[in-house]
Amino acid sequence: MDLSRIAQLRGAAVPPARHIIDGERRDASDGGRMPTLSPLDGEELTTLARGTRDDAEAAVAAARRAFDDGRWQNLAPAARTAVMLTWAALIGAEALDLAVLGVRENGTEIGMALKAEPLSAAATIRYYAEALDKLYGEIAPTAPGTLGLVHKEPAGVVGAIVPWNFPLMIGAWKLGPAIAAGCSVVLKPPETASLTLLRIAELALEAGLPPGVLNVVTGEGAVVGDAIARSMDVDVLVFTGSGPTGRRLMEASAQSNLKRVYLELGGKSPNIVFADAPDFGTAVKASAAGIFRNAGQVCVAGSRLLVERSIHDRFVEALADATQAMQVGDPLDPATGIGAVHSQAQLDRSLDFVEEARAQGGTILTGGERILQETGGYFMAPTIVSDVAPTDRIAQEEVFGPVLAVIPFETEDEAIVIANGTDYGLAAGVWTADLGRAHRMIRALRAGVVHVNTYGGSDLTVPLGGVKQSGNGHDKSPHAFDKYLDLKTAWISL
Ligand code: NAD
Repeated sequence: MDLSRIAQLRGAAVPPARHIIDGERRDASDGGRMPTLSPLDGEELTTLARGTRDDAEAAVAAARRAFDDGRWQNLAPAARTAVMLTWAALIGAEALDLAVLGVRENGTEIGMALKAEPLSAAATIRYYAEALDKLYGEIAPTAPGTLGLVHKEPAGVVGAIVPWNFPLMIGAWKLGPAIAAGCSVVLKPPETASLTLLRIAELALEAGLPPGVLNVVTGEGAVVGDAIARSMDVDVLVFTGSGPTGRRLMEASAQSNLKRVYLELGGKSPNIVFADAPDFGTAVKASAAGIFRNAGQVCVAGSRLLVERSIHDRFVEALADATQAMQVGDPLDPATGIGAVHSQAQLDRSLDFVEEARAQGGTILTGGERILQETGGYFMAPTIVSDVAPTDRIAQEEVFGPVLAVIPFETEDEAIVIANGTDYGLAAGVWTADLGRAHRMIRALRAGVVHVNTYGGSDLTVPLGGVKQSGNGHDKSPHAFDKYLDLKTAWISL
C-alpha cells in the first residue's frame, strides 16, 4: 500500500454528506445540516444531513419494502455471496482512502485505523458472505408419524446503531451477518463519524446490493436513533455504545413493538499481572498498548491494571517508561503510537477523572494533562494513576480515554474479587506461567473474553460480547447469525 498518498488524502475536500435511503442520496426532510469537526485540529471537516424522525421512518419503510418483496432474501445464496464478495473487494480497494477519511473524523492512529477499520470491515463482509450458504435448518428427533422441521429465516428489518471509536469495524460486525442472513438494515452512524459508513454503503450499491437493503440515516442519536428504536416496523435492534443509551433502547423497545435488542456496551476491564508472568517485558508492553491504543477509546481496553504486590513497583515503573516512549501526535503519521482523543467532550471527561483521582490521593505516575494544544486538536498524554482503591470512581467507571488505574493485590482470590467488582464484564487479561492458575482465572472471571499472556488481539472466528452490564448477544463468529435469524417450526403429520 502506498502510504505516501496519505499526504494528499489528508487535505482533500470532503463534500457535504447525505443519507442513503432506498438506494438514493437524500437530504434531511427539513434541509437541516450539522457539522463534523476533526479531532486533529478542531476544524470543520464537512457537514452531514441532520436526520429527522421522518427520514428515519422513510428509511425503515424502504427497508421493509425491500425485505417484504424478497429482492434480497429470495436471491439464491450463491448470488448473495457474489454481491457481498464484490462489496468486500471494493472496500478493500479503497482501504487507504477510507482509513484516512476515518482518521480525520475520529482521530485513531492510522496504522491501527487501516487494519481495524476498512481492512477489518472488508474481512468481516467476506467472512459472512462465505458463511451464508453454510446455514442449515434442522430435523427434530420427533415421534414416528410426525416431522418437525426447524427453518432459519431472516428476522426482517434490522436497526443498527454504532459508536464513533471504530465505526467501520463495528458497523461491519452488524452489517455482515445481518445482510448475509437476508435482512434489510437501517444504519444510524455515530453523529461524529458517519462518513466512512456512508461510503461503504455506496460501495454496497455499486457491488449490486439492491436498493433499500442497506439504508443509512445520519443525525443525532436522540432523534434518528430514537425513531429507529421506537419504530413499529423494526424487528431487531443491534447497538454498540454506552450503557445509558443501551438502557434507553430497551425502554424504547418495551414501549413500542418489543423488538429484540442486542447491546454491546462498555467495560472496565481488569488486566491482571501475577508475579510469575512468563515474560515481564512483553507484559509491560502489551499492558501499555492494551489501554493506550486509540487513546484508550476501545471497549475492551485494559483500563484497570491489577498487579501482584511483590512486583508492583518494578512493574509500574517499567510501564511508565514504556508509556512515555509511545509517541502521541498526528494520527496520520504512521510513526504515531497514540492518536487524538475523539472530541472536546471526551478530553474533558478524561481530564476530570484524573483530577478527581488526584484529589482523592491517587498518584499520577505519568501524563495527566492535555498536550499539543497548539495543533487545535484534542490530545492527552497517556496517564497512569496508582494508589487507587478498587472502589474509587476511576476504578469503577469507564473513562473511555487514555487513563489507566493501577491496583495492587496479594493473592489470586483477592485479584478475582477486585477484578469482578464492577458492574461491567467485557474483557480481562491474565499474565501467569502457571497453567492451572490460568484456567482457574478463566473460569472465575466474569467477562466475555479472557486474554492469557497477551492483551487484546482477536479475530473474526471468535465471538465478542459482554456479561453483566457490558451487554448481551455477540458480534463476530457464526454465533452472530443468531441475532438476525428467527427459528420457525414446521410440524407435519405423516
Ligand atoms: P453513545 O451511547 O453515546 O452513542 C452510540 C450511538 O448511539 C451513536 O450512534 C449515537 O448517536 C446513538 N445514540 C445516542 N443517544 C441515543 C438515543 N437516545 N437513542 C438512540 N440512539 C442514540 O456511545 P459512544 O460515546 O458513541 O461510544 C462509546 C461507548 O461505546 C463506550 O461506552 C464504549 O465502551 C462502547 N463500546 C462498546 C463496544 C463493545 O463491543 N462492547 C465497542 C465499542 C464501543
